[in-house]
Amino acid sequence: MHDVTYLRPTDLKDAVQLYRTTPGCRPLAGGTDLIVMLHARTLRPPPRAVLDVWSLLELKGVRRTQGMLEIGAAESYTGIIRSRDAQEHVPALVAAARTIGAAQIQNRGTLGGNLANASPAGDTLPVLLAYDAVVVTDRRSIPIDQFFTGYRKTALQADELIVAVRMPLGRRVVFRKVGTRAAQAISKVVTAVSRSPARVAIGSVAEVPLRARRAEAALERGDMEGAIAAVADDIRPIDDVRSTAAYRRTVTQNVLRELLSVKPAL
Ligand SMILES: Cc1cc2nc3c(=O)[nH]c(=O)nc-3n(C[C@H](O)[C@H](O)[C@H](O)COP(=O)(O)OP(=O)(O)OC[C@H]3O[C@@H](n4cnc5c(N)ncnc54)[C@H](O)[C@@H]3O)c2cc1C
Repeated sequence: MHDVTYLRPTDLKDAVQLYRTTPGCRPLAGGTDLIVMLHARTLRPPPRAVLDVWSLLELKGVRRTQGMLEIGAAESYTGIIRSRDAQEHVPALVAAARTIGAAQIQNRGTLGGNLANASPAGDTLPVLLAYDAVVVTDRRSIPIDQFFTGYRKTALQADELIVAVRMPLGRRVVFRKVGTRAAQAISKVVTAVSRSPARVAIGSVAEVPLRARRAEAALERGDMEGAIAAVADDIRPIDDVRSTAAYRRTVTQNVLRELLSVKPAL
C-alpha cells in the first residue's frame, strides 16, 4: 500500500476546501474500490492523500426533494435497499443494489463510488442511465448521459466531489444482471430498460455504460422486434476473461426481449 495522508473533513464545506487545496488527493467513501486499488498499487499517479467523505451528513440519506428522489453520494447500498422511498420510487435501483457483492460490500459500497469509479461493469450505472439521473456535485448538476466520457473516465473535474444523485419519481424501470453466478459476480451484461420514455441502458458491453440509441428509437415507434435487432449494433462488446463478444451480443438481445415482456413493479 502507498503512504498516504488521511484527511477527515467535518462537513461538506470543509471537504470541498480540503479537496481543492490538497495536491494528489482522492475521495474515499466506502473504500471497496479505492482500498483494493491502493493495496494493488494500480493507481497512476499514486494518491498522496485520501479525503474520507464516508461520514459527511450532507452525502448521506435518501429523500424526496423538488419532485425528485435524491440519494446521497455516500449512502451505502444497504441504506438504499432499506429505504422505503427508494423501494417505492426507484425499485430497479434497489434491485441493482441487492446484486452488488455480498452484505459486507453492500454495507460499505456507495453510489458516488460506483459513479466515480466508472467501471463499464458498474451495476448501478445502466439503472441510473435508464432513470435519466442527474449527478449533483459541489458545483453543478451533470446529466448522467454526459457523465461517462471514456474508459473509466468521467466528466468530473480533478477537484470535484459528487454530493448526490437525483432521479425523477414515477419512472418504470426494469433491471437484469447476467453474471457467472447468482451472487458475488461481476456482470457479463447488465441492462436497465424504461418503456416510456424509451431508455435501453447497458453495461459491460462497451468501454462505458451506454444508452442503446438505435434500440430506443425503435421502441419509441413501438417496434419491439426492431429494438431487439438494433441493440446488437448499439453495443461494442469485446472478448475478455469473462465472456466473448458474440456471447454478450446474444445475451443482450435475449435480456432485452425478456425485459420488454416484464411488467415493472411501480
Ligand atoms: C468483493 C467485491 C465485490 C464487488 N461487487 C460489485 C458488484 O457486484 N457490482 C458493482 O458494480 N461493483 C462491485 N464492486 C465494486 C465496488 O463495491 C463498487 O464500485 C462501489 O459502489 C464503490 O463504492 P465505494 O464507496 O466503496 O467507493 P470507494 O472505493 O470509496 O471509491 C471509488 C472511487 O470513487 C471515488 N469517489 C468515491 N466517492 C466519491 C465522491 N463522493 N465524489 C467523487 N469521487 C468519489 C474514489 O476516489 C475512487 O476513485 C465490488 C467490490 C468488491 C471488493
